[in-house]
Formats: sequence, C-alpha cells, structure tokens
Amino acid sequence: MTICSRCIYDEKIKGISFDSNGVCNYCIQTDELNKIYQPGTPEAEKKLFEIFAKIKKDGIGKKYDCIIGLSGGTDSSYLLCKAVEWGLRPLGVHYDNTWNTAISTENIRKITKYADIDLWTYVIDNKEADDIFRAFFFACVPEFDASTDIGFSQVLRDACAKFKVKYVLEGHSYQAEGLTPQASNYFDGKYIADIHKTFGKKPMKTYPNMTFKKFLKSILFHRVQFIRPLWYLDYSKEAAQSWLEKNTGWLYYGGHHLENRASGFVHSVYHPHKFNMDNRNWSLAAAVRSGKMTRQEALDIYSVPRQPDVEIIRYLKKRLEITDEEYDKVMINGIKRSWKDFKTYKKRFELWRPFFYIMAKYNRVTMSFYLKYCFPMPPNNEANL
Ligand SMILES: [Zn+2]
Repeated sequence: MTICSRCIYDEKIKGISFDSNGVCNYCIQTDELNKIYQPGTPEAEKKLFEIFAKIKKDGIGKKYDCIIGLSGGTDSSYLLCKAVEWGLRPLGVHYDNTWNTAISTENIRKITKYADIDLWTYVIDNKEADDIFRAFFFACVPEFDASTDIGFSQVLRDACAKFKVKYVLEGHSYQAEGLTPQASNYFDGKYIADIHKTFGKKPMKTYPNMTFKKFLKSILFHRVQFIRPLWYLDYSKEAAQSWLEKNTGWLYYGGHHLENRASGFVHSVYHPHKFNMDNRNWSLAAAVRSGKMTRQEALDIYSVPRQPDVEIIRYLKKRLEITDEEYDKVMINGIKRSWKDFKTYKKRFELWRPFFYIMAKYNRVTMSFYLKYCFPMPPNNEANL
C-alpha cells in the first residue's frame, strides 16, 4: 500500500494521487492554501482586518453585523469569542437536530454568556428528525448525518434573511481539520428529500431542507457571504481548547464531531464498521502537515482500530426504534449504497459551474462547494464501497 511520504493518507483515500516525491495531492493543496492565505503573518492579519472593516461598515445601523453558527465544538466556540474581541457584533445561530449531548448544550450556553451575545436556535420536531435519520440508516448510504449539515446551512441562510445580515463567519480550519478528501461523500437537499421519500414514514414539515430554489434565492437576493477567519490565523485547536476551558468554563467532549450523538455515531461506529472509513485520518494528517505530530505518531494512532461505542449504539437503536436484527442486517455485511443510487442536484450543479465559479469568487458559495459539487467526482469515488 502506498502512503504519502509526508502525511498519512494512503491509496485507499478517494481522489488521491502522488507526485514524483510520493507527496499526495491533499498535501500539495494545503501548501497552495498556505501560499495564498499565509496564515499567521502580518499580511494575513491585515487582509483579515480589511474584511472585518467591511463587515462592520455594512453592519452600521443593524443589530448584528454577522452570524456565527454554533455547534458547541471547539472551532465555532473559539471563533465566536474572538469575533467579539475583534469588535464584531455577531448573532449566534444554532440548528438543534435534537441529538446534542448535554456537554455541547452547556457549552453553547456558556459561550454565549461569556461573549454576551444573542442566540437564535432553530429546533426541528424530534420525531421528524428521527424519521430522517432512520431513513438514512436503512438507505445504507455513508451520509447518515447529511440532514444536519444541510439543515444547519439553510438555518444560517434563513437567519441572514430574517435579521438582514450579509456575512456568515465559519469556524472551519484547513490547518486543524485537514481538507476532507474529495468525493468521500456527497449530499444536497434533493438527495435528502429522495431518501426520505423512499425510506421515511412521516411528512417533512419542520425540517429546513435546502432546495435549489432557496439556495439560489439566498445567493442572489440576500447575497450572503461566507468568511473563514481561521484560514488567516496560525490556528491551533489545542490552544483554542485550553483558552476556552480557562476563560469560559467550556468543556471538551472527547473528540472531533462527538459533540452530537448523530455525528458521534457516524464517526465512531457507522463509517469505520460498515464502510471501512476511518475519518480520524483527516485531523491526523493535518496534525502531521502542521508539525504538531510526527508521521510515525499519527500512523501509530491510526493503526489501532476504533472500538465501537456501545452506549451510542444502544441510544441509536432505542431512539430510532431499530431492532437488534434490523441493526445487524444493515451493519454486518449489509448492502452499501451511494448517492449515485438516488436523485441529487449534482448534474445541475455541474451544468451551472461557470455561475458558481463567479459566486465562489465573491464568497457567495464556499470555494470548497465549487470544487467538490460543480465537477464530476474522481473515478475512484466508490473505492471503499
Ligand atoms: Zn499527504
């Protein structure tokens, strides 16, 4: 098996290629981003503060000048506190899929109290949330938790329209999380609707699905822009965590994506045990690239298989009313489907590629949306299926 000579990505990673020195395309991509953003340099800081000046100017006379989505996790919590320090006036927005852990609910409360900002939460009907998760489980596709990402994105765009705010600050950091391997998964609003229609039982009434029409309206009419301030900073997740713990009483929840039980199930059980996907490699590879860990240390951690979290499995079965037999049928040698087996907007996004290129240039959609959604997937997309 070929492993990148710099990070720990191997040939099983979808969309991977290696240069003549054995360095993978994801490492090269990170180098390119470092060249463009130069995180932590005075130049980067200057650029970031120019963006903030524009946000402040556009926010004059409004109650809030930007919106920050809060999950209770490290990056968004840290970003919110920093934004207030930078003199911005954010509104915190949370999409509650009703699967939050108690720690993350408490974290959101502590952070908003510390930063003294308002919080706007959209809560989906819990029976409806469960029906969508159940549908995705029986659809046997890797994107079990897609409804949370899509719902959260739509709620952020809805909040921008409601409070007449033009900027969303995102707590994403390519240095800390790594770039998600291209084509490791795919989802959009049509995909969610089709899976729910096929495997769901209850009508979709309170779920904020993102249709193509709503997406376009937000891009063209509300002109929402997405900014990722952490890309300009020399950001360290560990330093952010200790800062949060010391200053706000925020608590670490034990791992990336584990602040919510649905994403916890995906990362600790569903992906590793049904799809042979171990997503720890994103942040491990990122830690090696940024010099926080040696390649050997990361490989040692990665080579120890993840133990299934029995508590989270019990919780899932009980909440989704899945019997032991049904669970085993899906998880042990069960059928595996992909997004290609369902209706999606993928072809339409590809067709509209020139439009989305311009929109990405103006931050109306993220550059990662443009690169991932508007081009055909790499041929080895189904390598793990
Ligand atoms: Zn690499």
